[in-house]
Amino acid sequence: MMVRLIGYVFFLAGLASCTHSITKFYPEIIPKQSEAVLPILKEGKRELNLVYLGSGNLVLEQNGEAVLTDPFFSNQKLLNLPGKIKSSSRQYNSWKTNYEYFLSPSVVKAGLVSHTHYDHAMDLPLLLENRYFTNLNVVYGNSYLPQILQNFREEGVRLAELTSDEVFDPGSKSDKSYNWISVTPRIRFLPILSNHAPHTKKKLFMDKPLNADYFDDHLIYSNSKTKAFKWSTGETYSFLIDFIDADTLRVFIQTSASRHPYGFPPDEELHKKAVDLAILCYASAPNVDQYPNALINQIQPKKVMFVHWEDFFRTPKSFDDQRLVRGTKPKKVRQRIDLLGKPKDYFIMPKPGTRFKVKY
Ligand SMILES: [Zn+2]
Repeated sequence: MMVRLIGYVFFLAGLASCTHSITKFYPEIIPKQSEAVLPILKEGKRELNLVYLGSGNLVLEQNGEAVLTDPFFSNQKLLNLPGKIKSSSRQYNSWKTNYEYFLSPSVVKAGLVSHTHYDHAMDLPLLLENRYFTNLNVVYGNSYLPQILQNFREEGVRLAELTSDEVFDPGSKSDKSYNWISVTPRIRFLPILSNHAPHTKKKLFMDKPLNADYFDDHLIYSNSKTKAFKWSTGETYSFLIDFIDADTLRVFIQTSASRHPYGFPPDEELHKKAVDLAILCYASAPNVDQYPNALINQIQPKKVMFVHWEDFFRTPKSFDDQRLVRGTKPKKVRQRIDLLGKPKDYFIMPKPGTRFKVKY
């Protein structure tokens, strides 16, 4: 325990000493306005609405139906992490403003949670207790998710644990037991076993087995305080999501950097339909060999959007007030990205609160 704590204190000290201005990465790929068009095809006539809300939190909507990923808006100060954390009503209000400017809470039908670290799931209790998304039926996640949220089972939303029959395992090439899951007749997703990049070159924090009793005793209301370290990683997933139409749009989402081949979709599915847009995590990229290059080379998406790039240990004062997440060396990531030899407009990196019309 002591060694762990000392390791963490060094980690914190390292993070505190290096805040990064976004000019050190590729400032030119950040849309300046909060509304932007993202063309997948030049003459695209079809449209998908996408809003980036920070960290791994996105909503993707088409024809009044939407999926939500990794609900999180309560940025925590770094120094709070060894102590307790809770949802922030102030940040909830600005999150709602950003979201409702663009979409109605009634469109979201399903939630996808990639893993159970606090910065991917901790605001779900508040959204459930408030019944914010009026037509949200189900939230999919790992086996820890329903246990963490055991006191929120009566809120009218099913908390579904993804099973090995549904999840594709890229570690076993012969894995044929995976399943597309239908959210509505026009939206389906495929869960893919991924893994979680370490927070430092070697160490992944918050990776202990879940203590379910802790959450039963402590996460009772949405404003309950919990220890950040109790939010254990659990199984981590990436997702392929299809928006089915005469021309289907295929989106790949991975909200934490992963060691390849984990997180890669089945070749068979990529042959049937290529990925149009890959939404990838920036944070911790240098802690994994060849990330995100191996992934991009494998799935060959038409465009790449970087998320989870902003410093989520602080609360921005305005839309423009963003810095790069600490602990991820921007020059190193930049060198890797340059190796891909793609044009700059291949990449986009939105500030939280940015709304897109994806044209395809
Ligand atoms: Zn995580």
